[in-house]
Amino acid sequence: MDRYFSVDYAGAREKFLDAAKATGAKVWQFEHPLTGPEGEALGTDIAWLGSLAARNIVVAGSATHGVEGFCGSGCQTGFLLENWGSRLNTNTALVLVHANNPHGFAHERRVNEDNIDLNRNFIDFDAGRPESPGYADLHPALVPEDWDGQARETADAAIAAYIDREGMPTFQQVTSRGQYTHPDGMFYGGLGPSWSRRTIESFAREHLGHAEHMGIVDFHTGLGPRGYGEIIGRGAAGDPQYERTVAWYGSEVRSAAVGDSASVRLNGTIDFGYRRACPNAQQTAITLEFGTLPLEVVHDAIRADNWLYAKGGGSDSRLFAAIKSDIRAAFYGEDSQWKADIWARGQQIVEQALAGVNG
Ligand SMILES: [Zn+2]
Repeated sequence: MDRYFSVDYAGAREKFLDAAKATGAKVWQFEHPLTGPEGEALGTDIAWLGSLAARNIVVAGSATHGVEGFCGSGCQTGFLLENWGSRLNTNTALVLVHANNPHGFAHERRVNEDNIDLNRNFIDFDAGRPESPGYADLHPALVPEDWDGQARETADAAIAAYIDREGMPTFQQVTSRGQYTHPDGMFYGGLGPSWSRRTIESFAREHLGHAEHMGIVDFHTGLGPRGYGEIIGRGAAGDPQYERTVAWYGSEVRSAAVGDSASVRLNGTIDFGYRRACPNAQQTAITLEFGTLPLEVVHDAIRADNWLYAKGGGSDSRLFAAIKSDIRAAFYGEDSQWKADIWARGQQIVEQALAGVNG
């Protein structure tokens, strides 16, 4: 199964589209207005397995966080190459959304072309942007003027003092729950719907609106033990969606609302877009989060990449190669064992989701 996984976005896209064609899936392609680092075209490609009229639909998405896409892309290509369409009954469909954030995938960034964290962008902007208490105070330390020398030392000391005082969980909460005030900062949610959000919501309105039962499995990497896939559900005990999630996936389900997840509580995740677009479907959404490296290492890699584009001049920086190599390692375990773990868990979870939508 190593061959399901790719070394860059363009290769991943080609494998996915070739596999979709070979298995006879219906495919939609949405071209992104920008290009990749080699000038290559970018896009979100969607492959549909099963009946277009199916009312029980599982949507498995990749690359909401750009560079994390190597993981989900490998599984999506695997589902196509192993002909998962043949497992579906006439009322069930498996919809594979390849690269929710193709620009971030191609440029090996977690964020999109506007420095937006897509999983903070699906909020209701009409209701006003959420407050992000504490972020503004930390911002100058999170995004120092220089990545070495005095500026970096001062910034790191400020962060260390903050963690000493408030604890690591609070630091993670304040920095990563999403902020809507600093466009060059970390975990920025944007000022309005991004290209990716508009693309996904309009596809969902047009093609998924008739769904009755919908399972969302969004593949992510970077949190938790290496190679393990944490099932992150929504809500807590008593919430029907949470109860369904536990019924589908079992006791390993975690939730930030319960407080036992590696992730912080989030508002703007992609499932909110599907819910708005498909208000009549009973939705059961999870984030499937695969571990890579320790939390501190991952956080430092995100911070460095953010600095690189905010202050460092991007690809002109002498630190470009080193920072890109670190962020890739933080979100893609390139050894065969990691890939085997991801593929085994990915199959298990999507199988459970397909059983779940069929009640
Ligand atoms: Zn992610």
